[in-house]
Amino acid sequence: MNNIYLDHAATTPLDGRVFAAMRPYLGPQFGNADSRYSLGRSASLAVLSSRDKIASLIGGSGGSLYFTSCGSESNSWALKGVCAANFGKKNKIILSAVEHPSLLRAAEDMAAFGFKTELVFPDSSGIVRPEAVERALNRGGAAFVGVMYANNETGVIQPVDDICRLCRTAGTFFFCDCVQAAGAVPLRCGFADGISLSAHKFYGPKGVGALWIRRGAKLGRLVSGGQQESGMRGGTSNVAGIVGMAEALSLACEGMEAESIRVAKVRDVFLNELFSRLKDVRLVGDRASRLPSNANVMFGGCRGEEIMMSLDGRGVCVSTGSACSSGASKPSGVLLAMGLSEEEAASCVRFTFGRDNDEEQAVRAALLTAETVAALRGE
Ligand code: PLP
Repeated sequence: MNNIYLDHAATTPLDGRVFAAMRPYLGPQFGNADSRYSLGRSASLAVLSSRDKIASLIGGSGGSLYFTSCGSESNSWALKGVCAANFGKKNKIILSAVEHPSLLRAAEDMAAFGFKTELVFPDSSGIVRPEAVERALNRGGAAFVGVMYANNETGVIQPVDDICRLCRTAGTFFFCDCVQAAGAVPLRCGFADGISLSAHKFYGPKGVGALWIRRGAKLGRLVSGGQQESGMRGGTSNVAGIVGMAEALSLACEGMEAESIRVAKVRDVFLNELFSRLKDVRLVGDRASRLPSNANVMFGGCRGEEIMMSLDGRGVCVSTGSACSSGASKPSGVLLAMGLSEEEAASCVRFTFGRDNDEEQAVRAALLTAETVAALRGE
């Protein structure tokens, strides 16, 4: 039986064209980008042109783009680096309660240095209201505000332009985790002071991410050592990964409009088929302001984990909670923050569609899910 992979928010398969672009740097072009002979210079050129390519794809010429190892590193660096630059001046961090753990935990780490975190909760549709961020800003002393572009569990897209305007007025650094949005929706990073990306979410390789920071914004160094990444993050560059990231983003941006219409249709075929077969199911999170790939569904009277395990046995890959925490059995913090009860949160399953899914798969997945849920309910 063929697998139906419906967990593209966790990770995406590597695009063959991306692998082809990376291949020379995993083979004959293996040079260290800091070496001064021609083998090194060609690696350095590849890093340079990849940096320019990504910066131009995200409209980031007015800032610095640093390569990292993943989205989590970019997020953690942004928060800790901005707090370090503000040490002794401002000591408050404002985060939405639905941020990725790499920001939430980084803020907890900063408590040891006197930083206090204020969480802003979303409404029941998962949207973080600008007024709520404004109230937190008005209480003063904030060094950093973090609200993600699109949520990894619900796919809900946040009003980040409005939130950024409020931060500009307050003179506070606005950071936007764009890990789920990059490659899926058009992104111009000028709306924020810092954004994060991760290549494996847009059909690029695992182990490479980026942090973009607006020119003039203050950020502490992450890794002391060599002069890589303008001396801000020492360490030999992951040349093949960086080349792959640039190629993957470029391909994703090229086909974005058509793919986002197509994938939304596949997702909606799945939802319509599922909802026509089952009672007591509902979509979690705002329907309109969400990524085209995401369907987070609550199945009354069932545990999401049981549905996931049972679907796994039938060749369908889905997830409960975020991928990074799916080993844990605690209900999703994102769903609890939206006001769901523990029981409701534990009965949700995230289906995220991608390039490799078509309508036929969507119908089959809906049928298998409906059968699974009916069996678990004893119907
Ligand atoms: N931010 C969001 C919104 C994510 O969904 C993820 C991963 O799922 C991350 C950050 C972390 O990215 P990475 O897996 O590259 O560390």
